[in-house]
Amino acid sequence: MAVLITNIGELVTNDPERPGLLGIVEHAALVVDGSSVAWVGPASDAPAADERVDAAGRAVLPGFVDSHSHLVFAGDRAAEFAARMAGTPYAAGGIRTTVAATRAASDEQLTAHVARHVGEMRRQGTTTVEIKSGYGLTVLDEARSLAVARQFTEETTFLGAHVVPEEYADDPAAYVDLVTGPMLDAAAPHARWVDAFCETGAFDADQARAVLTAGAAQGLKGRLHANQLGPGPGVRLAAELGLVAVDHCTYLDDADVAALRDSGTIATLLPGVEFSTRQPYPDARRLLDAGVRVAIASDCNPGSSYTSSVPLCIALAVREMGMTPAEAVHAATYAGAQALARDDVGVLAPGKRADLVLLEAPTHVHLAYRPGVPLVAGTWVGGRPVTAV
Ligand SMILES: [Zn+2]
Repeated sequence: MAVLITNIGELVTNDPERPGLLGIVEHAALVVDGSSVAWVGPASDAPAADERVDAAGRAVLPGFVDSHSHLVFAGDRAAEFAARMAGTPYAAGGIRTTVAATRAASDEQLTAHVARHVGEMRRQGTTTVEIKSGYGLTVLDEARSLAVARQFTEETTFLGAHVVPEEYADDPAAYVDLVTGPMLDAAAPHARWVDAFCETGAFDADQARAVLTAGAAQGLKGRLHANQLGPGPGVRLAAELGLVAVDHCTYLDDADVAALRDSGTIATLLPGVEFSTRQPYPDARRLLDAGVRVAIASDCNPGSSYTSSVPLCIALAVREMGMTPAEAVHAATYAGAQALARDDVGVLAPGKRADLVLLEAPTHVHLAYRPGVPLVAGTWVGGRPVTAV
């Protein structure tokens, strides 16, 4: 069945064949056939369809592609957040609190928890979400975390190398052997990606390299958490290994920026983290001006960024990271898809997935111009409305 969405005031297509970064079509229409986009163009030229949706002059965008989240967890860390806002600095070890709660939760509890967060994301316009493991940190708990995540997305990431769990605190090398051995064997069938937290207090460059290399040998594509809390070797490791994306990129020197530009590895910036930890924001302007590809994502997790809102991240990217509204929207849609090695989402053109968002606003600029306002009036995933229009 074909559905015509017409009277679109501003249609963001991200189609590289159309002019401008966002490939905007004004006074537009779009036809959805089944799960795909069948036609895009001026409303006056639109073909007939079985059903008609009137956008009433509002904006339509590709659904947000949130390429970095940690939704499989139990409990929350509101008390830690309050302590941090009272002056206690953030440290990677807080992850262990969530590990204990996650191990104690049943599969059903974890599934319900992910469902609730994915529902939040849908209502805020996210149509593709990547979900990591990393709060189980045993063979069984990592495998079941990924099996839970797989019910919601194909973009699942094995993050056994999130932090060294307490029981291995005296022997991190033995934990890396576990991650690259039996844990990877159990996780790989449920994962598309492998990731590591390359940071002081988590894993060093050699350990991260061992994890990514072992994952690659099992067919998993690599991504990396790096340079979040301070300068370090992670970004250059990601570039050297030719990873699709390296995430955080807050503390970069000129060699890091050059390595990203030369490798084409996407820098995924996660401004919810800096907002929630009162850390300095990454310098998106510097990266864009150097020719680095930049994505933004929520990093939704209970410790350092407990927001599921890509619109909030867009607003922060514009206000705090030097991006224009168009660059931030592009980074949360088209570049987010690139950061997941996907070309079927993040763009609205014939043959692409009909994942789209209707805004209660005339243009994409309002996402940054009206921060904190629930502007998403409707979300379609694979051609099907998942929120009321
Ligand atoms: Zn993360």
